[in-house]
Amino acid sequence: MKSLWDNEKASACKNDLDLRVYTSRLLGENSFLVLHGGGNTSVKTKVANFFGENEDVLYVKGSGWDLGTIEAAGFAPVKMDTLLKMAKLDSLSDSDMVKYQRAAMLDPTAPNPSVEAILHAIIPFKFVDHTHADSMVAISNTADGESKIREIYGEKVLIIPYVMPGFDLAKLVYEATKEANWDELEAIILMNHGIFTFDDNAKVAYENMIDLITKAEKYLLKNGAMVCGDNIEEELSFFGSMGVFFSSFFTKSGKCFLGDNKRTGEAIEIDLLDLAKIRKRISTEKKQAVLAKINNSEKAIHFSNMSSLDKIANQGPLTPDHVIRTKRLPLVIGSNIDESLEQYSSDYKEYFEEHKTDGLVCLNHAPNWAIANGYGTISFGKNIKEATIIEDITDHTMTAILKGELLGGYQALSAKEIFDVEYWELEQAKLKKSATCAEFAGKVVLITDAMSSAQKICVKLLKEKGATIAAFDKDPEVVKTYTKGGDIGIICDLLNFPNIKVAIDKVVRTFGGIDIVVNDIGSKISNEEDSTGHNWQKHLDINVTKHQNLSKLVLPYLKEGINPSIVIIASKEFISVGNEHVIYTAVENDQIQLSNNTTQELTRHGIRVNTIYPRKIHSLVNEKALQDRAELCGLSLDDYLEEDELKIGLEAYDTAILASTIASSAFGRTTGAQLKVDCFI
Ligand SMILES: [Zn+2]
Repeated sequence: MKSLWDNEKASACKNDLDLRVYTSRLLGENSFLVLHGGGNTSVKTKVANFFGENEDVLYVKGSGWDLGTIEAAGFAPVKMDTLLKMAKLDSLSDSDMVKYQRAAMLDPTAPNPSVEAILHAIIPFKFVDHTHADSMVAISNTADGESKIREIYGEKVLIIPYVMPGFDLAKLVYEATKEANWDELEAIILMNHGIFTFDDNAKVAYENMIDLITKAEKYLLKNGAMVCGDNIEEELSFFGSMGVFFSSFFTKSGKCFLGDNKRTGEAIEIDLLDLAKIRKRISTEKKQAVLAKINNSEKAIHFSNMSSLDKIANQGPLTPDHVIRTKRLPLVIGSNIDESLEQYSSDYKEYFEEHKTDGLVCLNHAPNWAIANGYGTISFGKNIKEATIIEDITDHTMTAILKGELLGGYQALSAKEIFDVEYWELEQAKLKKSATCAEFAGKVVLITDAMSSAQKICVKLLKEKGATIAAFDKDPEVVKTYTKGGDIGIICDLLNFPNIKVAIDKVVRTFGGIDIVVNDIGSKISNEEDSTGHNWQKHLDINVTKHQNLSKLVLPYLKEGINPSIVIIASKEFISVGNEHVIYTAVENDQIQLSNNTTQELTRHGIRVNTIYPRKIHSLVNEKALQDRAELCGLSLDDYLEEDELKIGLEAYDTAILASTIASSAFGRTTGAQLKVDCFI
C-alpha cells in the first residue's frame, strides 16, 4: 500500500482541524482501508469557548460522515476532560454515552461524535487514525488469527481481543493501557475489527497506518493468500521483486484466473427474467421495493461456483459493523428461489429467537444480498447508492473470505457477537425514529420521450419521491442528461423493435426490473407537415405504434414488477374534429382504443393502465404552430386559446403532477381511467 502524503497539500492546511481533514481523506479514499462510513479519526487541540477560554477538545469524526469526503463540519468537538472521566466509569450504556458526549460538545450543532470517541481520547497522542483495513482484518478472521497478527507485528502492537465497539471497547483498552509505555507502541489492533495508529505528527500517524497494513499485505502474499480484484499491481510488483511462489488465482503474467471455475473468464449473465423474479420475491419479503444490482465479476462468479460455498458464505461479515448493511449472511439461491428464501427467513427468525433479549424488535428477515450459484452476487437496495454500498462491502468481504480460506480457513465472529451489533441499542433507537420510505423508493420508472420538458418535470417529481429513472429518447443527449442518482439515459427509437429490446434489457440488467412506464405518445404538431394531417403513417407511428411496441416488449418485466403500472400520456386533440384535422383526429381515436385494449389485456396480470389526455400545453408549442392549429380548427388564435375549458391555462407541470400521481399508490386500485386535463368532453 502506497502513502499518498503530499507535503505541499499538507503544509497548505491552516490549522490542526484542516490537517485532520486532509489526512482523514487520504485514509478514506482508499477502499482497502475503510468502506462507506467505516473507520474514524480525531485530533486533540485547544478551542476557545464562548467566554474566550481555551479548552482541550477532541475533534472526532461525527456519525454519518464518510472519511473519504469529510469536511471540518464533519468533526464533533468534545471536551477532553469529560471523555477521560467517562473512561474511568465502571459501566455506561451506549445510549447514555452518546447523550453525555453530546452534552460535552462545544458546538451543539455538530454531528454526534463517533461511538469510539472515548477510545480516541485515551490514546495520548494528538492524531489518532482508525481503519478497518481489509488485509489486517482478513488475517485476524482466521483460525489462530491472533498468533498470525503477532507473527507479523511482534511486540510493537497491543492486541485487543474482540469486544463490541462503544463503551465496553473503550473501557477494555483503557484498562489494558493503564500501565503501557505508549512510546513503545506502534499501534493497537482490535481483533476482527480494525487498527489504530497514532502520533503527535499527522504524517507519522498516517504513514504508520500505511506501513503496518503493507506488512499485512506482504504476509498474505508470502503465504499465497492472493485473489483477483484488489491491489493487483502493487502485489504483483512485490511478487516480482520477492520471487515468492504463490498458487492461488494469478498466473505469472499477472492475469487473474479462477481456480476450478469451468467457465474461466467468460462473462456469464443471469437470465434477466429470472433476475426480475428474484427482485420481486425479495421486495415482497421485505415489504419494500428494492433494486437488484448484479455483480458478475470474475471473482464473484468464482465465489458463487465454489464447492465450499455453503460453508464459506455462511460464516458472517468481515467486520461486525458491516452487518447493518449486509445482514449477517447472504441468501444462497439454490435451484428454487422460493425454497431458498423460505429457508433464509426461517433461519433468520431462529437466529433472532436464539439471541434476542427483552424489548428487541425483530428486523426484516429478508436478505440484503444474495449469491446466485454460477452467476455472481446480487445486492438489494432502495436506490442504486444503497445497492452499490452493499455490493462494495460484499465484494471486499468475498476477497477477505477467499484470502482467509487460503490462510487455513476464514473464521468470522460468532453469531451472537454479530447479533449484538445488529441489535445494538443505538441501531434499534435509529430504527424507531426512521421515517417511512418514499413513495417510489426502490421502484424503477421507464420514461419515454425523456428529453421533452414535460417529461423532465415528471422525472423531477418522481425522483423527489425516491424513484430510479430509466430515460428513453431518440436524442443522444439523453445519455448525458440522465446520470444523477443512479439514473440511466438510453438512446432508444420506439419504432425500432430490436432497439427497444436492447434498451429494456439494459434497464433490467442495471436495476433488476421495471415497475412503472410513463409513455408519452401525444404527438406535438410543431410544423406544417404535421399540421396538415395528411401524413397518416407518421401520425400512426407516433401515436399508436410506439406505444404498442414498448408495451409488448416491456410486458414480461412488468409482470414481475412491484405494483406495476403504465401511464399513457396521450393527446386531447381527438375531440377537435374539423377541416383537415380529421386524419390526425382519427389516429388520436386509435389511441383511445389502444388504451382500452391495453387496459383489458394487462389488468389481468395486475398491471394498471391509465391514460391522461391533456389539452394543448401552450408553453410547449411555439406561436407559429399554435397559429396553424387555430387555422385548422377555423378559429382565430385568441378564440383557439380561449377554448381552454377552465380558462386558467395549462402548463407542463399540470400533466406531470397528474402522471406521477396516477403512478402512485393513491391510484393503486385504479385501472382503465381516462383522465382529461383541462377539458371535459
Ligand atoms: Zn471501528
